Amino acid sequence: MVGLTELPGLAKRCSALGSDSAFDLLAQVTQLRAEGRDIVSFGIGEPDFLTPEHIVTAAKRALDERQTRYGPSEGLPELRSAIAQEVSRTHGIPVQPNQVVVAPGAKPLIFYTMAALVNAGEEVVYPNPGFPTYESVIRWLGAKPVPMTFNEADGFGCDRGALERAVNPRTKLIILNSPNNPTGGMLSLGDLEFIAGLARRYNCWVLSDEIYAKLILQGAFASIASLPGMAERTIIMDGFSKSYAMTGWRLGYGVMHPELAPLLARAETNLESCTCTFTQLGGVAALSGPQDETERFVVELRERAREAVDALNTIPGIHCETPRGAFYVFPNVTGACARLGLKDADELAAALLHEAGVAVLPRSCFGTPLAGETEQYVRLSIATSLELIREGIDRIRRFVDRAAMLKE
Ligand code: PLP
Repeated sequence: MVGLTELPGLAKRCSALGSDSAFDLLAQVTQLRAEGRDIVSFGIGEPDFLTPEHIVTAAKRALDERQTRYGPSEGLPELRSAIAQEVSRTHGIPVQPNQVVVAPGAKPLIFYTMAALVNAGEEVVYPNPGFPTYESVIRWLGAKPVPMTFNEADGFGCDRGALERAVNPRTKLIILNSPNNPTGGMLSLGDLEFIAGLARRYNCWVLSDEIYAKLILQGAFASIASLPGMAERTIIMDGFSKSYAMTGWRLGYGVMHPELAPLLARAETNLESCTCTFTQLGGVAALSGPQDETERFVVELRERAREAVDALNTIPGIHCETPRGAFYVFPNVTGACARLGLKDADELAAALLHEAGVAVLPRSCFGTPLAGETEQYVRLSIATSLELIREGIDRIRRFVDRAAMLKE
C-alpha cells in the first residue's frame, strides 16, 4: 500500500483534534495483559458496578417489542419528559421537555454545543486540567482555548483571580465541570456566583458539564443554572454513563434555552440521525426507578477515596487532596519525580506502567499544560475495588522507594 503522504493529503484540522488518552491507556493495558503482564489499572473513568437490573430489563423489553426504528433526533418524548422532571427537581428551576436534547453520550453534546455557539477566533474558557475533549473541540472549531485554572491548596476550587483575567469581551463560552475530572474538585456556591457574575457581565454562554453531579463525596452539589438569570444562558450537560454504570450504552442529554435545543438536534440529525431508541427506554427506567445502586456506589467511593488519599499521603514526594466528587484522585507527584530524577509526570506514569505494573494518567492527558507550570500530577480512577486500590498504591510506594534508593 502507498504511504499516506503520497495520497492527496489530509485536512489541516486533523492535527487540531487531540485524543482522549484514557482510551489510549486502556488499549495499552489490554495489550500488556494479553502479553501476560499483571497490571493494576487506575486508568479508565468507568464505574465498576453493573448496570442495574431494572434498567437492563426495560431495554430488553423495548427490544422484545421491536422498538428498534429511528426516533426523533432530539430524543424520545418519554425520555425528554423524564429528564425535564428530573432537572426541574434537582436544580429547582422549571424545565420543559422542549428544552431537552438527548444524544448518544454526553460527549457529543460538547461538540454540538460548541458547533452551535462558537465561531472561529472566539474565545472559550475551559477547565485545564480538564476533560480533554473540551480543548480538542475548541481547537477543531478554530476557536481560542483559554484555560481556567484551579487552586490545589483549596481542594481544586476555582482560581477566581486567574478567571477574572481570563474572561473578557471576546469570551463566547465558559465551560464548567463540577465535580471535575481529573481533580475531583468541586466549585463552591461562592465560585458559581462569581462565575455567573462574569458570564452576565460579558454576556457569555455557559456549558455546565454535570456528569458527576450524582457522585458527591463531600459537601453539596450546586449548579450554576440554578442561580438567578443563569438558566437561559446555561447548557446543562449530563448523562447516564457514570451515575448508572451505562458507559457502553451511550446515552446523555443537554438542557438549554428552548430556541437553542432545535439547533443542537439539527446537528444530531446530520451526524447520528438519533440516539439508539431501546437505550433511551433504559434511560427512562434509570431516572424513574430505584436509585439505591448509585447511592451504594457513592458510599463505597467515599471509603475508597479515604483509603487512597491516606495511602498516597504516606509516600514521600506525593501529596493528595481528598476529592469532593467524581471517582478520581489527583495526587501531586512533583516531589516523587524529583526523588527519582524524572522530568515530569509523563515519565513517572510510563515507569509505573512498565516497571511497577500500575496504570495511571499523567496531567498532560487533561489539556495542554500551561506555560510555566511546574507542579506534576497523575490521575488515579478509584472506580475499582478496595483490594486493587491497596495493591496498586502499594506497588507505587514500593516502586518509588526502590527507585529512589537506587538513585541515592
Ligand atoms: N464529561 C466528563 C467530564 C467526563 O469525564 C466524561 C467521561 O469520561 C464525559 C463528559 C463523557 O461521558 P459520556 O460517556 O456520557 O459521553
